[in-house]
Amino acid sequence: MNLPETTRKRVVIIGAGFAGISLAKKLRRLPVQVVVIDKHNYHTFQPLLYQVSTGGLEPDSIAYPIRKILKKLHNFYFRLATVNKINPELKEVHTDIGKISYDYLIIATGTRTNYFGNTEIQENAMSMKSVPQALNIRSLMLQNFELADNCQDLEERKALLNFCIIGAGPTGVELAGAFAELKKHVFPKDYRHLNIDEMEIHLFEGADVVLPPMSAKASEKATKFLENFGVHLHLNTIVKGYNGDLVKMDNGEEIRTRNFIWTAGVTGAAVEGLSSDALIKRINRFKVDRYNQILGHANIFAIGDIAYMETEAYPKGHPQMAQPAIQQGELLAMNLGRLLKGGSMKPFVYRNKGNMATIGRNKAVVDLPGIEFGGFFAWFIWMFVHLMSLVGFRNRVIVFFNWVYNYINYDKAARLIVRPFRTRI
Ligand SMILES: Cc1cc2nc3c(=O)[nH]c(=O)nc-3n(C[C@H](O)[C@H](O)[C@H](O)COP(=O)(O)OP(=O)(O)OC[C@H]3O[C@@H](n4cnc5c(N)ncnc54)[C@H](O)[C@@H]3O)c2cc1C
Repeated sequence: MNLPETTRKRVVIIGAGFAGISLAKKLRRLPVQVVVIDKHNYHTFQPLLYQVSTGGLEPDSIAYPIRKILKKLHNFYFRLATVNKINPELKEVHTDIGKISYDYLIIATGTRTNYFGNTEIQENAMSMKSVPQALNIRSLMLQNFELADNCQDLEERKALLNFCIIGAGPTGVELAGAFAELKKHVFPKDYRHLNIDEMEIHLFEGADVVLPPMSAKASEKATKFLENFGVHLHLNTIVKGYNGDLVKMDNGEEIRTRNFIWTAGVTGAAVEGLSSDALIKRINRFKVDRYNQILGHANIFAIGDIAYMETEAYPKGHPQMAQPAIQQGELLAMNLGRLLKGGSMKPFVYRNKGNMATIGRNKAVVDLPGIEFGGFFAWFIWMFVHLMSLVGFRNRVIVFFNWVYNYINYDKAARLIVRPFRTRI
């Protein structure tokens, strides 16, 4: 790679998500050369992807150019590249644009969608891990509404207007709530000649509750909100297959849909090349110690969703959420500073700042340590936290004004098919 030679130690960060960016920002005062590599030239604020999918926000209000984040930091370099392999013996990272050597390597590659080996579902499902995927869902939804408006066959029309979301974690619940809002406030005005009751939203979950990672109170409240919205809940139900038209469930039931969105799980976006002991194959995550150092690899660290760290408080690892990723990035920056001075590192202790999900206008559930609540106040907190967590002042202003506009007008204005999605059927 074309990078200047330096006498400083080189820190290479793979991935500019929550973990990679929080680390990079905190490295600015250290005497190191920092190279950030990502396969996208922007940072994605994944918690608001569902609003892009459902026309509530434009994609560029939840993404931010990585070069802009790094522009005021000296000795920082960005390379748009996909990392394919690491060679720990030679201390090299192999990418699709060339090799780069490192003194310290930080893997912050996050996760990708997990289809649990079901190739039929993988081939036919829509997933929502990136901006292009969120835009695909938006296009498909609008394309199917256009087809339905012109369709005389009732069964075919119903398949076009059925929305099946698999996985009732925060992403699935938020998506279901957003589709329900479109059904209630937006689509009846756009498609005046369609019977909007033909649009159905189905949410499938293998567990016996929605929002399984949250408190019982949050699950109960979210269930009530979703039911009031007319969302069909299929709890204790495993979706076994989807061929592009027919959803097959483990209880033998079937349902037709052209909108099948898979939010049922993630697996680590691990990079090849490290020792087999370092990777937990079942979850594709790197096993790290309390300093985020990958087991058996002295100068290689993993942070964020890709890292698996067991502690007394979190014997099954930390939740795969933004906060652990941010906190690990910040601590690692401090620890690298200590290492450079010949000091010892501080172990990671997660400060749980809570968990939340919104189910639409005025409705959200919040679990904070020691207190759980739902309703309008929770929704207000949800909005405030998400707004303040966005990268960049411009994005915060744009999202704020979009939300105010959508709230006052009962609208979701980004209903454009700018890049049609080609379905297999
Ligand atoms: C739809 C959705 C909603 C979510 N909602 C919430 C929420 O409300 N609250 C919450 O706390 N968390 C939420 N999460 C989880 C949260 O987004 C993640 O926990 C967080 O992004 C993890 O940060 P990370 O830095 O580890 O990984 P990521 O943010 O995923 O970043 C990984 C980066 O690595 C890059 N990358 C990956 N592989 C390579 C490679 N081989 N070469 C180069 N670059 C690579 C990617 O392009 C990406 O930029 C949500 C996630 C999703 C998908």
